Amino acid sequence: MINVLFINICIIVTFLYFSGVLSKRYSIGMSSNSLPVQINSGILFGIYGIVLMLYTIPVGSNTYADLRHLFPVVIGTYIGPVPAIISAIIIGIGRMMLYGFTSSGIVACIGIIVVGIICAIISRYPLSRFHKINLMNILSMIVILITLMINIKDVPTVMSFYPIQLGIAIIGGLFVYAITEYIYSTNKLFVQLEQRATTDHLTQLNNLRAFELAIKTHLAHANERGENLSLLVIDIDHFKKINDTYGHSSGDVVLKSIGKILIDYSRSFDVVSRNGGEEFTVLLLDCPHHHALVIAEKIRVGVQNHTFILPDQIFVSITISIGVATYPDTVATPSGHALVDMADKALYEAKRTGRNKVCTLELQTMK
Ligand code: GH3
Ligand code: MG
Ligand code: MG
Repeated sequence: MINVLFINICIIVTFLYFSGVLSKRYSIGMSSNSLPVQINSGILFGIYGIVLMLYTIPVGSNTYADLRHLFPVVIGTYIGPVPAIISAIIIGIGRMMLYGFTSSGIVACIGIIVVGIICAIISRYPLSRFHKINLMNILSMIVILITLMINIKDVPTVMSFYPIQLGIAIIGGLFVYAITEYIYSTNKLFVQLEQRATTDHLTQLNNLRAFELAIKTHLAHANERGENLSLLVIDIDHFKKINDTYGHSSGDVVLKSIGKILIDYSRSFDVVSRNGGEEFTVLLLDCPHHHALVIAEKIRVGVQNHTFILPDQIFVSITISIGVATYPDTVATPSGHALVDMADKALYEAKRTGRNKVCTLELQTMK
């Protein structure tokens, strides 16, 4: 019996590791999960439970011992009530399909569904994951004891194996908790590192690395689909003066505010980045050149009309210059380098001809 329960723990750990890989790949479990994620993870953990039942041990007539309840316990603790119930229902149905629609099968099926409901209820309680997993495990083992009593109807027989099963379930639960916490925390760290590597710490916009990746990807898409891709390169006018007059931290406040304005003026799928210093970019997806000029002009006017509030309640106004380039309208080749180069040259032209303006390489200026 100990051998089989040990095999159960090995299978559970293997499945948890696989689930950890999936959750890292799809950023599952890091924050709130969508309903499809909850349903799919419930189905997956239900299937895990069915596989586990292939390594079960008969302990009475048509009665089996294993650690299948740990799947609703784990998924309830880490994802929530919906997958806990779904996994339990699937395990219950699997139990009957594997070992027959007998009366003891129905009792076992109802038992695991009750386990799922208990896990679902506890998952919503404001307890630590450690307390949740242990509470769910203990209550599940009480439900399992009741189902064993109903099915075997012989207390000495149940007591001949149940204490071992209980002990292994408790140790297994702690072991599963340690492994899942490890996977959970390393995944979380990975997502945080990935986010930090692509996010500008001051404005929380994309950083240069993310921008370079985005322009490459979106240019390829635009090329494939015959769409336009416009780029705005934005530079604050005389920003050094802000730093020199009001201090570096005031300059930082302005940079953050510009970031917010750019987000406000762009669509949710546009890519807004701080490419370094006081230079920003906006990648306007599927946006023709004439429309990009209109958006750039709106941004320029928006910044010009905005009152920036610096520390100590100092109010300042600033202006920006914007260079615009569009594939394929003003840049024929689908090259990120060429697009940036063209927008940079247009920006230089805006600076050279007086600042606070929008320019394209054709030197058509709008003001
Ligand atoms: P121009 O109109 O020609 O663009 O003039 P400018 O003063 O904006 O440009 P310049 O390149 O001379 O100065 C840019 C300044 O931006 C210099 C630098 O100290 C400042 N800067 C760069 N990064 C940061 C930052 O993260 N925070 C703050 N506060 N200032 C920064
Ligand atoms: Mg500047
Ligand atoms: Mg600059």
